[in-house]
Amino acid sequence: MLDFKVQRYIEEKEVIIRMLEENVEEQKEQKREIAEVNRLLVQRSNEIKVQNEQLEKANHIAQEALQSKNEFLSTMSHEIRTPLNAIIGISFHLLETNPKPEQIQHLNILKFSGENLLSLVNDILDYSKIEAGKVELENNVFNLPEFLTQLVAMYQVRAKEKQVKLQAKLNPNLPIYVSGDVNRLNQVLSNLLSNAIKFTPQGSVTLEVSTFESFSDHARIVFQVQDSGIGIAPDKIPVIFDSFVQASNDTTRKFGGTGLGLAITKRLLELMNSSIEVQSTLGQGSTFYFTLDMPIATAPAEKVQHHKNSTADLRGCKILLVEDNELNIIVAKNFLDSWGTQVHVARTGTEGIHMSDSNLFDAVLLDLQLPDMNGIDVAKYIRGAITNAKTPIIALTATVTASVRADAFAAGMNDYLAKPFNPNDLQQKLLYYCQQ
Ligand code: ADP
Repeated sequence: MLDFKVQRYIEEKEVIIRMLEENVEEQKEQKREIAEVNRLLVQRSNEIKVQNEQLEKANHIAQEALQSKNEFLSTMSHEIRTPLNAIIGISFHLLETNPKPEQIQHLNILKFSGENLLSLVNDILDYSKIEAGKVELENNVFNLPEFLTQLVAMYQVRAKEKQVKLQAKLNPNLPIYVSGDVNRLNQVLSNLLSNAIKFTPQGSVTLEVSTFESFSDHARIVFQVQDSGIGIAPDKIPVIFDSFVQASNDTTRKFGGTGLGLAITKRLLELMNSSIEVQSTLGQGSTFYFTLDMPIATAPAEKVQHHKNSTADLRGCKILLVEDNELNIIVAKNFLDSWGTQVHVARTGTEGIHMSDSNLFDAVLLDLQLPDMNGIDVAKYIRGAITNAKTPIIALTATVTASVRADAFAAGMNDYLAKPFNPNDLQQKLLYYCQQ
């Protein structure tokens, strides 16, 4: 009996020992597997590291390519703007100097084509600036209903030419004064309105604006441009906001345009924390809409009104034009001469400083990009210890960003004008400063 018990005990022990041995084997096997997984993990993480490095390199190359593309576009656009400025300016001038009847049509075509080309160049420049993240939004206080009414009034001429009924429906619940980038809002709505009129052979276009929700300090405002035009095919809707895309191949031939307007509109609205939406039915029309949160502002202090006197008032006014580009000089001189001013030209910043020192000018028109020095520094010299002149200085610049404007004012300049300038604006500013 005892023998049997001992025998069972031994057998049980042997089973336990076998199980323990098997367990040890299993653990060894698991350790081997873990080691293998670890090895694979290290290998994969090294591979990922290499892939990341390659991606970073590719990204860097892509960024550099984008940067040089943007720089190229920006340089080209600036280079093209200067001769265009001359073409538009001179055709404008010739139209004002009693052309023969047969010349009027040609001059109008020249002016119209120049303006179209300029808007294309501006679009390309603008788009590349937005893509490069170089667009700064400004903050201006403006009268919203007045701005919208004036905007629609500007497009009435074009709408009437096409016999399209254009109307503004402004909800009385809109705040009067708001703050925001009025120029960029103008650009967005202008793109939508000009498209709506362009793609509506007959019927109507409506700009509808209303407050969707009011808060103590801001209002959520819905802007909507609706037309009864040709509409957009459903498969084209997702792509019309891409750059250089048009809904059909014959759009440029039939309606003109470049396919950049909506791409710019979309990106500008993204900068304003908004997004553009569209609903459209082919053959029935389209509605483009977006919502903006706009801070409510108080009425700004009354601005000094620029006098609107006759051109005779500029006669004898002594102007110093500091500009190096020959075409710009010809265009500006054409206008300045026709208003009877006495123009003196300085072609470098140094020359400008010396001339403003020795001559008593009524106003200085100062280009900000001069061959020897930057216009901002020229203004500082004129205002500074060297001359201490009080002569009004108007900056002429192709890039009127908030920072350029702030630098110009900080350097003591009185005003600025974007190139290519509107002759009437230049005339109004000179009338104001020359009479002081
Ligand atoms: P563009 O008008 O210069 O061609 P956009 O980027 O402004 O370029 O518009 C892209 C395309 O979207 C247009 O070519 C047109 O096919 C379509 N589109 C835009 N607005 C409208 C509209 N109101 N009605 C019909 N189609 C439109």
